[in-house]
Amino acid sequence: MGPPGAGKGTQGALLAESLGLPKFATGDLLRDAVKRGTPLGLKARAVMEAGHLVSDDIILGVVREELAKPEAAKGVLFDGVVRTIPQAEGMERLLAEKGRRMDAVLFFDVTDAEILARLQRRLSLEHRADDDPVAVSTRLRAYREQTAPVLAWYEVRKVVHRIPAVGTIEEIAGRVRRALGR
Ligand code: AMP
Repeated sequence: MGPPGAGKGTQGALLAESLGLPKFATGDLLRDAVKRGTPLGLKARAVMEAGHLVSDDIILGVVREELAKPEAAKGVLFDGVVRTIPQAEGMERLLAEKGRRMDAVLFFDVTDAEILARLQRRLSLEHRADDDPVAVSTRLRAYREQTAPVLAWYEVRKVVHRIPAVGTIEEIAGRVRRALGR
């Protein structure tokens, strides 16, 4: 978890590789569906480009599919899920149905000023439609209003590791490994 631009994708890829687990990023999956023009992509496109969150039903549907895959049997590293309290509750139910649970939640902690600078850089490099200034402010608001409260939900369950997420990629990756005791 963490605000947009906190480094979830970058650190998630490194961690998934070192743990030997598949990484499942809802943002990547949705962007791919939009590019291919699938029914999921057609539903999600306008919502994503405006910087709003896609509905909990859609997200929990794709999470359910992911958890059913054979390669997910040993564990999955989720990137960008969960982002709302109903998603946290739905995820808990889906995992419990399989006799599984959330082992750890990594929270990437970055200031707003740093986030805005990073998203501006990413817009000039990747041209993501949802990195334009209006969409960015909508995404930050969605994060504060809908996603930030999820942190407290997981803190009660004692699975949160807070990672200071300013520094080099290697420094932050080191903090992630130490937080997980690896
Ligand atoms: P990301 O690449 O994780 O920043 O996701 C890009 C966009 O995809 C978000 O701004 C949302 O519109 C949508 N999205 C990705 N994951 C979720 C989620 N768990 N819940 C709702 N919307 C999501």
